[in-house]
Amino acid sequence: MVDAVDLLVIGGGINGAGIARDAAGRGLSVVLCDKGDLAEATSSRSSKLVHGGLRYLEYYQFRLVHEALAEREVLLRSAPHVVWPTRFVLPHSPHDRPAWMLRIGLFLYDHIGGRRTLPGRRTLDLSREPEGAALSPGYVKGFEYPDCCTDDARLTILAALDARERGARILTRTPFESARRDGGLWRATIVDTASGERREIAVRALVNAAGPWVDRVIDRIEGARTKFAVKLVKGSHVVTPKFYDGPQAYLLQNHDRRVIFVVPYQGDFALIGTTDVPFDGAPEAVAADEEEIVYLLAAVAGYFRSAPKREDVIEAWAGVRPLFDDGHGDPSAVTRDYVLELDAAEGAPLLNVFGGKITTFRRLAEHALQKLKPFFPAASGDWTAQATLPGGEIDDGDFERFVARLAGEYPFLSPTLARHYARLYGARAMKLIGAAASLADLGRRFGPDFYEREALYLVAEEWAETADDILVRRTKHGLRMSADERAQFASWIESRASAAA
Ligand SMILES: Cc1cc2nc3c(=O)[nH]c(=O)nc-3n(C[C@H](O)[C@H](O)[C@H](O)COP(=O)(O)OP(=O)(O)OC[C@H]3O[C@@H](n4cnc5c(N)ncnc54)[C@H](O)[C@@H]3O)c2cc1C
Repeated sequence: MVDAVDLLVIGGGINGAGIARDAAGRGLSVVLCDKGDLAEATSSRSSKLVHGGLRYLEYYQFRLVHEALAEREVLLRSAPHVVWPTRFVLPHSPHDRPAWMLRIGLFLYDHIGGRRTLPGRRTLDLSREPEGAALSPGYVKGFEYPDCCTDDARLTILAALDARERGARILTRTPFESARRDGGLWRATIVDTASGERREIAVRALVNAAGPWVDRVIDRIEGARTKFAVKLVKGSHVVTPKFYDGPQAYLLQNHDRRVIFVVPYQGDFALIGTTDVPFDGAPEAVAADEEEIVYLLAAVAGYFRSAPKREDVIEAWAGVRPLFDDGHGDPSAVTRDYVLELDAAEGAPLLNVFGGKITTFRRLAEHALQKLKPFFPAASGDWTAQATLPGGEIDDGDFERFVARLAGEYPFLSPTLARHYARLYGARAMKLIGAAASLADLGRRFGPDFYEREALYLVAEEWAETADDILVRRTKHGLRMSADERAQFASWIESRASAAA
């Protein structure tokens, strides 16, 4: 058997990718395996907010809110292309939480996270301010506070890219099958889906970051014990054409005391979510129910003059939150904080990850490596707080100036195409565009702002293999393409794959 690797990370969602990145940067040898594509599960189906979680204050989740608020600033600095500030408008509804309660919540939210670059909260007169124009006339008072939005799947890919560039091996479509302790090591079996080949690797420490499958992975590890359980809670979103003017998002209080986000999405669209539904099915099969779609649209209709109708829904999708089971019956009340459980009583260590948000992935990874530190005394210390993610090397983190620079350097790009490359690839956009001097140099056009060169780049650099890897996760081109365009792109990528086989 070849030399043992230090860490096998099971799961290529945000948490697995973040842990692999952090560990590789400390000098550990790392293999990450995912049974499917990176971010294929929960990490591409979130509300795409990098936020403290205003509503968690109601559940006294101060540790989580503090950590998450602080992470907004860290992520804004390290990935200014993929994380961007957004103002959230919270209309006061006479039937829901009283205004004094919202004021106290927003005061705390403003102060407990070490906010530095984002602006503070303010009170809005919705009858006069433009943010109120699209709302029903009953909403007169409101508040505005800052949070951030992101592209969850791209953030995951960026963490995986950084891990690879620091020496980690990233194996997609490679399920972890089993592991057993042998002396001071693990013998772990992983399977290459394409070839069917089973491989046993010797590993010093196992990290189980399988999200909704965390307990299923534990079941596959001989002698693994856990005191904890994961609680699966489904959340669905719908995407509609944007139905109001302005760059702001809205936080709506629903009559059942839940909150619903309405967030500008991919320029001309709005993302509406989410629901909280206990889930006991197979996480692979999760889908938005008609009832949830109707619920989300009804919540929005209670606030907006021209709310979207059922026929306006372009996409509806669901994800499964892998929450740490703290015994709460109400799915909205279950903690969104994470727990890292170290099982090292019987020799080689196993670290199980329960919970964890997109927002806190960097801190979660740092905590995970701190837990594993006794087993790797030579590993270097914390480093990610000051580091950039791939493409984040943008002067002063000024994204708008960067877009203008890119458009100036490549005048043949339309404004939307320049913005698209800047948003997804940041400073690496130049690598993607390369020596192209005209749109024709970008190759075949598959759809709006989608050219062959980008697809080839994603295959070469970012582990893309299938149409969905590109249309759904690494980009959102699928949203703007017709069914025919999507089918043509799928046959293009399939024919490339079979030619390469
Ligand atoms: C509806 C919804 C809205 C949310 N909104 C937000 C938000 O706005 N902001 C925020 O910060 N967080 C949000 N979250 C939370 C956040 O999305 C998740 O907590 C996070 O994505 C979990 O990441 P993960 O890496 O733990 O799990 P996942 O992303 O699910 O990754 C686990 C991975 O493990 C892999 N895997 C499983 N079994 C195996 C195996 N045997 N071998 C190899 N690989 C395996 C899977 O293929 C999967 O890719 C939301 C979640 C949901 C569901």
